[in-house]
Amino acid sequence: MSAPEVRIDQLTGGRVLIAPGRAARPDQFGLGAWRGGALGTCQFCEGSEAETPPEVDADRSGGSGPDRPGWRTRTVPNLYPAAIPADRSGSAEGQDDSPSSSAFSSPADPLLASSRAGEPDMFASRPAVGAHEVIINTPRHVGSLGELEPDELEAAVAAWRRRMLAHADEAYVQLVLNQGPAAGATVEHSHAQLGALNLVPAAVARERERFNSYRELTAGSSLLGEVLREEIRRGERLVAIDDEVALVCPWASRFPYEMRLIPRRPHPSFERDTGGAEMLGRAVAALESALGRPSQFNIWVKTAPRGVEHFHWHLDLAPALEPRASFEMATGIEINNSSPEAAAAELREKIA
Ligand SMILES: [Zn+2]
Repeated sequence: MSAPEVRIDQLTGGRVLIAPGRAARPDQFGLGAWRGGALGTCQFCEGSEAETPPEVDADRSGGSGPDRPGWRTRTVPNLYPAAIPADRSGSAEGQDDSPSSSAFSSPADPLLASSRAGEPDMFASRPAVGAHEVIINTPRHVGSLGELEPDELEAAVAAWRRRMLAHADEAYVQLVLNQGPAAGATVEHSHAQLGALNLVPAAVARERERFNSYRELTAGSSLLGEVLREEIRRGERLVAIDDEVALVCPWASRFPYEMRLIPRRPHPSFERDTGGAEMLGRAVAALESALGRPSQFNIWVKTAPRGVEHFHWHLDLAPALEPRASFEMATGIEINNSSPEAAAAELREKIA
């Protein structure tokens, strides 16, 4: 199995993770409607610890030993990783000055930057160094985050934060959760995934730049903090609010029923902040009340890259209702066939 690598698209400068080993991962879902929890048990269930790689973290408040039953959350390396530790990648980190990887040192113009080394570096590639972990949200075989009890969801979100902090020395740590086959999951049992990367994704870098520009223009305000203040004042896209966080359907929602969970006190880093688990549970319940349980959706957290002070974390949730289509793939512009205002109105009705 070849090691995962990062390549740069010559035309767009965009990064792609090439991880052919992931094609070998078994897919639990056949064709047909997903009912959630129907598969009974699996390798992520309590009692099946021997079927996964050894755990790297677990919440074992009862004092049980590693890789045995008695946990609330459990984290294991992904068997089919899209990024791997430096010592397994066949190449040490810090090689960015070699000709073959110099394109990576200039995000602005990789082709021009690399021509200093002689040949234009059109086929830039380097090992995808980092980590890819699976965070099992519960020992019970449940298909939906919406089936977790509040204290279970609290423990799961705490585990997400703990594992992100464990990789704080990487450039960026991406936390995601795919629920259901339409959202890209291949295992039914509720789990999150963490990708620790030695690069900052362009979408995150763009947010960082816009936070910085807004801060300079306004002598210190947070862009998302100001957006939130205005969303609370207007109310039409606000779904719910508590002391810690607010839940809105974003102004420029890319997907129907997209929701954004925003801490009310701007904080750059999700993993260094607290709160949000209860509202996440309410958001999932409202979505499943509107669309049916289990819903299939994607969750991702945007958090400050390593060393970045001026950022404002948020957690986004988008149902996987439609496959991606050509226009979106060509342009990067999503066409949303529903309005965030209508979605917010419906979700306000449903949220408990
Ligand atoms: Zn299971």
